[in-house]
Amino acid sequence: MPVEEVFIALGGNIGDSSTIVEQAISALDNITRCKLRGRSSLYRSASIGDIPQDDYINAVVKIETSLEPLALLLELQAIEHAYYRNRENEARWAPRTLDLDIILFGNRNIDDSHLVLPHPEFSQRRFVLEPMFEIEGDRFVAGYGSLSYLIDHAPALEMEKLD
Ligand code: AMP
Repeated sequence: MPVEEVFIALGGNIGDSSTIVEQAISALDNITRCKLRGRSSLYRSASIGDIPQDDYINAVVKIETSLEPLALLLELQAIEHAYYRNRENEARWAPRTLDLDIILFGNRNIDDSHLVLPHPEFSQRRFVLEPMFEIEGDRFVAGYGSLSYLIDHAPALEMEKLD
């Protein structure tokens, strides 16, 4: 089975988000046919959108997997549900216990009702780009450009790397 390199962004702002994100990273390493190959530090970022809410804790991990993209998405949703995330009650940009997004899945381009790859907003999200840069250095993302170029052009966001 071919193995592909996948980047996953993690974030949350309800409860003990640092612990939840750390536990989610361990959970990702334990998915069948997935291996954790790299991870960023934790970052704190200001929330986006009009709903006043707490800052987010974010991180990005790199895994290798032989799962297909939709199978991986289901595994991520199972981990989200383990942290009581309730999708029905969620507005866009509402506070959330744990959000897991697939950012890149090898070089795949997918656009269906369940999954869009690369993630359609990753190039605008400093809280994804900066942790990716920490793991990968100035990597080139096919169809987008180098991470340093994307970071230079992403909207400003108040964020900091945590120890
Ligand atoms: P969100 O509120 O950002 O977590 O969005 C969740 C929904 O986005 C899920 O129902 C997924 O099917 C869909 N989705 C589309 N593309 C992606 C992606 N690249 N990673 C994660 N979820 C995605």
